[in-house]
This record gives sequence, structure tokens and C-alpha cells, in this order.
Amino acid sequence: MPALRFDNRFLRELPGDPDSGPGIRQVHGALWSRVEPTAVAAPQLVAWSGDMAQRLGFSESDVLSPWFAEVFAGNAAWAGMEPFAANYGGHQFGHWAGQLGDGRAISLGEVVNAAGERWELQLKGAGPTPYSRSADGRAVLRSSVREFLCSEAMHHLGIPTTRALSLVMTGEQVVRDMFYDGHPRAEPGAIVCRVAPSFIRFGNFELPSSRGDVALLRQLADFCIARDFPHLQASAAGGQPYAEWFGEVCERTARMVAGWMRVGFVHGVMNTDNMSILGLTIDYGPYGWIDNFDLDWTPNTTDAHGRRYRFGWQPKIAYWNLTRLAQALSPLFDDAAPLHAGLQRYTDAYAAADRDSIARKLGLQDCRDADVALMDDLHALLQSSEADMTIFFRALSDIDLHAPSMAPLVGAFYDDGQRAAAEPAFIDWLGRYAARSLQDPRGASPRDRVERMRLANPRYVLRNYLAQQAIDRAEAGDFAGITELLDLLRRPYDDQPGCEAFAGKRPDWARNRAGCSMLSCSS
Ligand code: AMP
Ligand code: MG
Repeated sequence: MPALRFDNRFLRELPGDPDSGPGIRQVHGALWSRVEPTAVAAPQLVAWSGDMAQRLGFSESDVLSPWFAEVFAGNAAWAGMEPFAANYGGHQFGHWAGQLGDGRAISLGEVVNAAGERWELQLKGAGPTPYSRSADGRAVLRSSVREFLCSEAMHHLGIPTTRALSLVMTGEQVVRDMFYDGHPRAEPGAIVCRVAPSFIRFGNFELPSSRGDVALLRQLADFCIARDFPHLQASAAGGQPYAEWFGEVCERTARMVAGWMRVGFVHGVMNTDNMSILGLTIDYGPYGWIDNFDLDWTPNTTDAHGRRYRFGWQPKIAYWNLTRLAQALSPLFDDAAPLHAGLQRYTDAYAAADRDSIARKLGLQDCRDADVALMDDLHALLQSSEADMTIFFRALSDIDLHAPSMAPLVGAFYDDGQRAAAEPAFIDWLGRYAARSLQDPRGASPRDRVERMRLANPRYVLRNYLAQQAIDRAEAGDFAGITELLDLLRRPYDDQPGCEAFAGKRPDWARNRAGCSMLSCSS
């Protein structure tokens, strides 16, 4: 067993719940509660991230030792671990939901690795906590596979995210009514160990603020700045760093969402309790990846009616969430001007990041106003013709700028009839695109242009049906599909010979299959 160094600042520096019992309760005046993971019957390590293991200081033989599965199933603890659940609230689907808290996440502690990086380890699905409300604190295999794979895939796409260390099956069954339609069934249970420098969410600030506990709010803000934004503490030089801090949270959130939009990721549940203060993608639930380009698509059946968290609304929803955070933080400010200035930083940072994405996705040196319109026009065409987003953008770098044609792009369409109908409009668009590209300094250097495009337009993403296939295999006892995807998605921008099948369109059978086109919050 490696000598991990724990330095549990969240527990040490912030007030905790004096009650350490297991009962469900409202917790006032405290930001966390002690809780022990509930032991499981038969821990079995199913997959792990070699990158993350190494970063934390685990060798391969550490990972393969029996104690590793025991610890990351919650059956055993190491010296220095102090398990707790965090107390937070949140706005869910636009409405204040009161206290939520970690209902099935249990943090084990904060590891400081050899490089001095701080990584909090957190088990998801390790049993009930004081915040479990009426639920069981557990997680099923299918949702755990999805969280494990997508955390690592997102990281390798270069988009800020919480990470995943391990995926352990519990040997126990968990009962879920997947579509809330009166058909519960027993499914295999699993636990992911996720890892991040901080799991603080917007909702951690909203809860004490909603209760008028300004002292606790201030304590958490000061702690968060000191631990998670230390550069701001130094630069504030005796003053209050709150304004600068809020502005940085806004900018980080903007860059994260621009990343999602670039690769076609739909979070699915952008409630404020699922928004990280560090601008990390967090809480992979009923998320999904865009196959045919559709700004109105959401994978989340719970949101099917209003589609609040649809693909194309993510930038404005993130802004709305930041206004909730601004509201929560307002007792720390004498007037609202710095909060408005922070929100403006979101708007500016999002516009800049979006322009950067446009330039990179189209292979241009920079993005001019007319290029924003060029991209908007392309989006409208992709949407109306149901073209595959990932395949289309990847293939766009194969266009001959001197003789643009549809030929490199035909593989992106799901329906020949729709393609044929849209072809004149695409030819027209390609003409405009080629003319613009040839004026661009990069147009003169095709290799440079293609390379830039490849680094912005992934070849492989975690398509919903690919994740589902790995889940189907895992439920039948074959875990190789998980490892295959994990390996593939470590290099999403590289063409990987032999892996073409993973870069194809969503097959027809997956169009309306549960898990492939729609997911519920039941997990
Ligand atoms: P989510 O929509 O997954 O972000 O969850 C919203 C809230 O419900 C959070 O407070 C979760 O901790 C809690 N929650 C979700 N699933 C469970 C579960 N199976 N057991 C206990 N709490 C849960
Ligand atoms: Mg959540």
C-alpha cells in the first residue's frame, strides 16, 4: 500500500455537523457531516484509469492488490482518510430546492501527491448519508460506467472536468425504476472513485446564503479562495478578493461550456448543485453526445418537456446559474457592481472562447464577425439535414479548397434524401468557406490548416450507443468494452488505425433505444 499523504483541509478548516449519526436531517451552521461508507458484499475492480492512478502515486501492482478494491468500494480505510458528505443546496430546473447535499457521494479525504497537487478522493454510490433524503445512496453499474468513462474522455479532450480513478462492482443489487413507470428491476451496483482538486459547487454557497448565515458563507468563500484560488489571495494584497474570484469563476465556467459546445457534449442536468466552482464538468448523469447536429436535443427524459438543458441553451443556462451564484454571494459585497462586472466577464469570455472554437474548427487563423455568421449558417444546415456533428467537422478538413465538393462529407449524413435536398445549400456554403479559407494565412499552408482542425474536431467521442454497448457487455460480465473505450478516448484527436468502427455514425438500432438516445435521472 503506497504512503498517501492526506491533508484534509475541508474538514479541518470548516465547521462540521456535531451529529455524526446516520439519520437523515437538515444540517444548519455546518458545511459537512462525518459519515462512514457502508460495506458491500464483494468488491470487484472492473476498470481504473492508469493516468489518474499514476498521478496519485499508485503503481499497477497497487491497483491490482485486493486492498485497492476494498478501499475504493468503501470496505476499508487507510490512515489519514476521514470520510464525510458535504452539505449544499441548489436550484433544480430553475427552482430553489433547499438542502440537497452529498446523498450518495462520500469524500475520503484530500491527497497531496508527490508533485504537491491536491486531489480529493470521492466515492459515488458508497451508501447513505445524512443527505440521502428518501434514496439509497447507491449507484448502478450503467451510470457508473458512464461517469467513469466520460470523466476521463472529457479530460483527454482538453475540457476541464472531475476525473475518475476506479470503477468497482459491489457484488450487490440495486433496485431502480429506470423510467419511473412502475417497472423497478434489480441491477448490479457499482462505485466510482472520482477525483478533483475541489468538489465545491455553486450550491455550497447558495445554502448558507439562503438561510441568512452570512458568517458561514464568508467562511466558505475565504476557504475556497485560500485553497482553490490561492493566486487570488496573494494578489488581493490585504483587500477582499471576492470580486476577482467571482469574475474568475465566471470565466472558467465560460471556457468549460465553450468546450462542451465545441465537441457536442450535453450535460443534461445543469442544476446549480451540479456546477463546480472551479469550472469543472461535474456530475455525469443523463448526459449525452450529439450524433446528428441538433441544438434542441437533450438526452434527459426528466427534462423532455421543457428541454431546459438542451444542447443549444447550455451557454445561457450557465449564465443563469452564475446569476444564482451572484445572488448567493451578494451579502459579501457592499454593492452589486462587482457582481455585474463578473457576469460581464462570463459574456466576454464565452464570446472569446466561442470565436476561438469557430476559428479552430474551421481551420482559420482568427475568427471575424463574418465567420460567426458562416458558422451559424453551417449549424442551420447541419440541423435541418441531420448531419452527424463529429463526422462532419472531422471531414471538413479533407475539403479541397480549390475545388470544394460534397464528396468528403457524404459519410456524415443519416439520410440520403435529406442530404440530396440540402446539397445545393451545402455546395453554396462550401464555396463561401473555401473562399474565406483561401484568404486566410492558414489557407496557404494546407498542412497547418488541417492540423489545426484536427486538434479542435475530435475523431472519437463517447457516443451514447458506444457507452451503452460497453454497459451491455459489462452487465453480462465482460468488462473489456470499458477498457477498450478508455484506451481509445485517451487520444480522441488521433486517427487510430483499426478503430474506425468507433468513429462511425450512430447505428439505426440506437436511434430510439433507451441509454442511446434518452436517459433518465434514475441511476
Ligand atoms: P443529481 O441530480 O444526480 O445531481 O442529484 C441531486 C441530488 O440527489 C444530490 O443531492 C444527490 O446526492 C441526490 N441523489 C441522487 N441519487 C441519489 C441516491 N441514489 N441516493 C441518495 N441521494 C441521491
Ligand atoms: Mg448532483
